[in-house]
Amino acid sequence: MTNEQIQEKARKLRFEAVRMVYEGKDGHPGPALSIADIIATLYFDIMHIDPKKPDLPDRDRLILSKGHSCPILYAALNERGYFEPKVEHFNLRQLGSKFQGHPSMRSTEGLDMTSGSLGNGIAVGCGMAFAAKAQGLDYTTYVITGDGELQEGVIWEGVNTARGRELDNLIVFVDRNGWQSYKSIDYTIGQNNVADRFRAFGWHTQEICGHDIAAIKSAVTIAKSVKGLPHCIVCDDIKGKGLSYMENNNAWHKGVPTDEQFRIAEEELGGAEK
Ligand SMILES: [Mg+2]
Repeated sequence: MTNEQIQEKARKLRFEAVRMVYEGKDGHPGPALSIADIIATLYFDIMHIDPKKPDLPDRDRLILSKGHSCPILYAALNERGYFEPKVEHFNLRQLGSKFQGHPSMRSTEGLDMTSGSLGNGIAVGCGMAFAAKAQGLDYTTYVITGDGELQEGVIWEGVNTARGRELDNLIVFVDRNGWQSYKSIDYTIGQNNVADRFRAFGWHTQEICGHDIAAIKSAVTIAKSVKGLPHCIVCDDIKGKGLSYMENNNAWHKGVPTDEQFRIAEEELGGAEK
């Protein structure tokens, strides 16, 4: 897909994620919009997947370690054709819905991992990447983690293991938006030198703008060309990106747009069709 086509997909996914939260009357729109461009580029351009065969052994895997941002992932799976018929209303976070507030791989087609309990994604990604090598399969495992999530200790156990096992088929995106649920990263731990820390563990590490489709594509191409090391792509992102009143406003970590705010979302994001 061209960068412009992916950008258009990202716009649509953003709107669907906001609509999902608005209709479900609960959810995390800010963290979802933060990673919309990464998700759109992975699902519509980079990942080797077949929505009609979600269990294909050599499919690329994606672990949304910051599971609360799942509305954007649900929107991507729907747009990519994982659900038959296409979902009109997601019933996000409702009892019995397949679209739970945190991803459940037992409920939803196309999910490679249950997540939401923060910190586990890289460690599980290590397992998937190691399994690929053990089975002689040529798939890539992608993990998306948050910058607040990096405070979980198990993250660094996974980071250590990936380097030790030379898991060059593991690519981790860090959504560095500078915020976590409580407050800013500056406030909570006072440092957000993510790239330095991954490099200190011996990872091949790049830093890009996570809203630049060309940069995301290029970073993955570069990562795949470097052998013997796991890969980290630190993405400078804006929490709530795309919607004026949500951008860089941590009040939208979790929250529901009012009717008027949803009308603004339709105006700014152009609705489901444009
Ligand atoms: Mg964050």
